[in-house]
Amino acid sequence: MRGFLIIGNEAFTEPFNLSDLPGAGRMDILCRCVSQALFLSHSIRKNVEVYLLLLGKPDPPKAIRIRSGELRRMSPDERNIGGHIRKAVGFKPQAEWTETNSGIYVARKTLRELLAEISKSYEIYYLREDGKDIREQVSKMKNPLFVLGDHTGVRREDEDTIIEFSSGILSVSKLSLMAEQCIAIVNYELDRANL
Ligand code: SAM
Repeated sequence: MRGFLIIGNEAFTEPFNLSDLPGAGRMDILCRCVSQALFLSHSIRKNVEVYLLLLGKPDPPKAIRIRSGELRRMSPDERNIGGHIRKAVGFKPQAEWTETNSGIYVARKTLRELLAEISKSYEIYYLREDGKDIREQVSKMKNPLFVLGDHTGVRREDEDTIIEFSSGILSVSKLSLMAEQCIAIVNYELDRANL
């Protein structure tokens, strides 16, 4: 398994306008991250989980879990993925996961609660440009899950929480990249290492 957690600091927690994903707290970024994490050309990766933590107005936090192996009817375009997220945020979230479509779940979880749960199945790595080169670490990984911020990065207090749960801080480049670019590179590095 491999996983990604993207923190949407301003991502809306109520149903939003699919024609204005950037205006929904930069939901467009989260949709592109999901696309890069899950999709191959004309197929979908088998063993990937994507977690989105939505921290925007009006009802944060809401966590979304997408399991590639269970997905039906998701396509790689932002609007389609946005539609699935829109439906999920329309549900009243419980402490435990509720399935809102095949392979898509929503729950009320803080970052700490989410990381505590995820850390039972994954080694958590925080992606940051000043981290250790991922290529030098990748051979040692087992079920890695990578945590990334959105256009505003990760809040200081959230960063402290991530580091508490993480096995290390990793970099994919010395340049500051967009979150979805980082995900594409991580998939490339893990694929190269046959992980
Ligand atoms: N201005 C934001 C900041 O200072 O944090 C930029 C955030 S960047 C657009 C989005 C996320 O991608 C970051 O929070 C980080 O997790 C990840 N990221 C960006 N460049 C990276 C790199 N070179 N290596 C690893 N992760 C990176």
